[in-house]
Amino acid sequence: MTNISIISKDNCTGCSACITICPQKCIEMQVDEEQFNYPKIDEKKCIDCGLCLKTCPADAPTQLYDNLEVYAATGKNKAIVEKSSSGGAFILCAQYVIEKLNGYVCGAVLEDGLNLKHKIVNTMDDVQKMQGSKYIQSDMENCFEIIINLLKAGKYVLFSGTPCQVAGLRKIVKKGEDYLFTLDLICHGVPSAYAFSYYMKKMYGEEEYSNFTFRQRNKYLLTSYPYFHENVQKKRDRYKLIEAFEDPFYQSFIEGNNYRESCYTCRYAQARRCGDITIGDCANSNAYKSLLGRSLSSIVVNTEQGSKLWNGVKEQFEYVIADYEKEVKLNKQLHEPVNRPNKREDFYYDLKEMGNDDFKEKYCSKRGLKEKIKHFILWHIPVKTRIKLKKLMGRI
Ligand SMILES: Cc1cc2nc3c(=O)[nH]c(=O)nc-3n(C[C@H](O)[C@H](O)[C@H](O)COP(=O)(O)OP(=O)(O)OC[C@H]3O[C@@H](n4cnc5c(N)ncnc54)[C@H](O)[C@@H]3O)c2cc1C
Repeated sequence: MTNISIISKDNCTGCSACITICPQKCIEMQVDEEQFNYPKIDEKKCIDCGLCLKTCPADAPTQLYDNLEVYAATGKNKAIVEKSSSGGAFILCAQYVIEKLNGYVCGAVLEDGLNLKHKIVNTMDDVQKMQGSKYIQSDMENCFEIIINLLKAGKYVLFSGTPCQVAGLRKIVKKGEDYLFTLDLICHGVPSAYAFSYYMKKMYGEEEYSNFTFRQRNKYLLTSYPYFHENVQKKRDRYKLIEAFEDPFYQSFIEGNNYRESCYTCRYAQARRCGDITIGDCANSNAYKSLLGRSLSSIVVNTEQGSKLWNGVKEQFEYVIADYEKEVKLNKQLHEPVNRPNKREDFYYDLKEMGNDDFKEKYCSKRGLKEKIKHFILWHIPVKTRIKLKKLMGRI
């Protein structure tokens, strides 16, 4: 059986819109040598209708919107927001859709260790598994098809994902748009999830992971970037924390060495957005004195549908009107895609071929004295004390 690709590999985001729309069901995802998913057409079954290309958000872009309202916000209920990456924008929107609209939520869940997949759920217990950013690409599986059927049945659905995933979904939803709410993340770029699983086994030799997270918050840091996980098989050393700077895969995520090729030319890394609401880490958080010391989400309301959702949830937040121009200036992903570094060329080849020590040597940059001192201060002086000190120094 010969398979042919749909659009150029450099542009395909792997969103799965083409698979969902195909009337012949003759497209399926296959992993390439870097373990990213790409759609392949079985040309024996293909009737050349061209629907796959017409709905491809990389080939024919989805509509983008200028923002209507912009906020810096954090959830009032600290217990529920604690597991979130920033201010809990996602979980509070999800709670509203499940509890008030009796609807469904689609988001990314780490399953059976390190497999990242989009799932559709309708209970708070399940939706909490979606909280937290996972810095690898999520597999959409057949979520778009299920969402289309839910919308047709008059059920509310909240979809949360990267802008390219939101763009893909918007291209294929024809009926029931009034029931769909979309949250697009401000997004850096995504590394290959399957390569990540392979890497973790090769580097750390662990067999089973549970409660794996990519971000942590504690009394020292409002947000930090370590892998943190539990190994249920172990009695001793059950919990493990590996900071981004000491791990070549994580450090490469931060530097942009391991993204999907389409991320470097992402047409959605800009101020105009494709989701009803855009959520991200508030980059200008120090400017909002009343919320100082809190972890803040940027909440950018882009459409009337987004306003409906925001009006339903805003009571759950402490929030201030935010300066979007400043946010765009400070948050690179709101004005341009990440540059493709030279190291991207070798990353996935090196991952397979290099020994762990050489791989670490190449992809973990050396930290200077200044960075080491900053790290020491951050991990030894609690956030509240740092804020008090800053205020005191300001007065002086
Ligand atoms: C790969 C990636 C890169 C990001 N880059 C930036 C950035 O450069 N600047 C910035 O301001 N913010 C970025 N974010 C967004 C940020 O990390 C937070 O997700 C955002 O601030 C929302 O926080 P929250 O507290 O509302 O929700 P959270 O509890 O963090 O949940 C956010 C939602 O993200 C979804 N999600 C998590 N991981 C993935 C994934 N891999 N693919 C698709 N959906 C996912 C979850 O399903 C959940 O619905 C990125 C997120 C991801 C996943």
